[in-house]
Amino acid sequence: MSNSRIALVTGGTGGIGTAICKKLAAMGHRVATNYRNAEKAKAWQAQLKSQGVEVAIVPGDVASPESAASMIKAVEAELGQVDILVNNAGITRDGTFHKMSPDQWMEVINTNLNSCYNVTRAVIEGMRDRKWGRILQISSINGQKGQYGQANYAASKAGMHGFTISLAQENAKFGITVNTISPGYVATDMVMAVPEEVRAKIAAQIPVGRLGSPDEIAYAVGFFIPEEAAWITGANLSINGGHYMGW
Ligand code: NDP
Repeated sequence: MSNSRIALVTGGTGGIGTAICKKLAAMGHRVATNYRNAEKAKAWQAQLKSQGVEVAIVPGDVASPESAASMIKAVEAELGQVDILVNNAGITRDGTFHKMSPDQWMEVINTNLNSCYNVTRAVIEGMRDRKWGRILQISSINGQKGQYGQANYAASKAGMHGFTISLAQENAKFGITVNTISPGYVATDMVMAVPEEVRAKIAAQIPVGRLGSPDEIAYAVGFFIPEEAAWITGANLSINGGHYMGW
């Protein structure tokens, strides 16, 4: 088999997702992502094309099992069967738990954690049949250390790692590695929307002294893909400028 694989990055149009799509394309893989807003996604696709990066885009809401299954079928029709899956789509709906609505809880769990079931379930059997696969979850530092106002988000992100280490055990004999990446605060729109003085306070807690860049997360995604990474499975890689040094 050639080293060019088919990769699906969920939430590829976002800050970190865009960098991951570009990284995997630069490594010679054929890359797809999902969209919910066709107009926005087409503009994004055209912008990448102008930079020499081809990414296939298909409709898909990862929070819905039906939509995720049809998203995978669309990727298969356009590029072929998925070898590399990056579960990256994610949202926040922050609020202290004692005031958190059922919707705030469910939206975050459905988008960040149930999506891992919805999307991975639709590709895992094919990977097992072909005896090769790479599955990565983009979790978060806040799934490791918790965060005031983010009980929903932290629970969803910690859950991703439990998912990773179970899937890694079930699929190790099938040439499939399953790993988690836990980024710290990365300068995407999501974080840049936070007031500057709050960002300065966050940066002051980071030993490296600054926020991360999407490219620094994408670099780590690239690290897990080659044949040389076949013995890395069930791992959690923290990338956070030293902000949190636990598991
Ligand atoms: P963005 O908000 O920039 O991008 C999120 C992406 O996910 C968008 O493409 C969005 O699409 C997509 N998405 C959201 N909900 C769904 C859904 N239901 N179905 C399909 N796609 C969906 O976020 P980031 O790039 O900053 O974050 C990417 C990942 O990294 C997330 O999982 C986040 O939790 C995690 N992370 C981010 C950190 C940071 O500091 N930025 C730190 C740690 C982890 P649409 O445009 O349609 O909304």
